[in-house]
Amino acid sequence: MDWRGRRTSSNVDDRRSRRTTRSPGGFGGGVPRGGMGLPFPMSGRMLVIIVLIAVLYGIFGGGLSNMFSADQPAPTTPASDEDALFASTVLAMTEDVWGEIFAASNSRYIEPQMVIFSGQTESGCGFASAQMGPFYCPADSTIYIDLTFFQELSERFGAPGEYARAYVIAHEVGHHVQNLLGITDEMARLRDRVSQQEYNQYSVRLELQADYLAGVFTHYIQNEGILEEGDVEAAMRAANQIGDDRIQRETQGRVSPDSFTHGTSEQRMRWFLKGFESGDLSDGDTFSIPFDDL
Ligand SMILES: [Zn+2]
Repeated sequence: MDWRGRRTSSNVDDRRSRRTTRSPGGFGGGVPRGGMGLPFPMSGRMLVIIVLIAVLYGIFGGGLSNMFSADQPAPTTPASDEDALFASTVLAMTEDVWGEIFAASNSRYIEPQMVIFSGQTESGCGFASAQMGPFYCPADSTIYIDLTFFQELSERFGAPGEYARAYVIAHEVGHHVQNLLGITDEMARLRDRVSQQEYNQYSVRLELQADYLAGVFTHYIQNEGILEEGDVEAAMRAANQIGDDRIQRETQGRVSPDSFTHGTSEQRMRWFLKGFESGDLSDGDTFSIPFDDL
């Protein structure tokens, strides 16, 4: 991927060297932009978060102090600075591509924010930790990423290569596009109306569409001459390695399709490739196809 020297994004909030726990000024850099999603004062919110974490991790009596051991600013390293530059450059590419696609249909693309953090941070969707992997929070239109995920992607998931990383960012930006198109709101409305199993199927549709949108992005940057040999394969490999079936087989030793939320490896690769080959949003309606044909 020919990314060096290209424009970086102005929408990146690099929190790696900041405190991630509560300080007299509130969260160090932890207040989500946009001011949405904060129904109660920060102090109450913090308490709820701590209790939630304690319950989730069963750490009552186990020592809360361990949870916040990352109290000291984490030093950045040349390697992680390189990763941050890469993430910012890819984000800028998505801004250009989606800006162009939206403009072509006479609408304006509102750019997402990206928060780069180390260990843990606060998001518009609650507490964020590196263990959660990169995610998009619709409440503050922000992508949250701890860059150690890049290393994990290549070492733990066996998906090396720059474009595997770019695909992950493009997938999260895909969720932002879905948010702008109103699809995320539609999903939120369904949550209380359908069974868990049905909701999981909608989730699979949403995720495969985000893969499709990552493919559409890839189509555009190929036309710009940014892609290099092996890039599409690197993204396909990443899509393959993070399919629900593969991850379940590795972590649980068995596969239970009812609990899939992202789609199988085969589906993820296929929808990414479909977006890459088509480059057209109208071919990416994963919601109107019978579930078994996805
Ligand atoms: Zn996703």
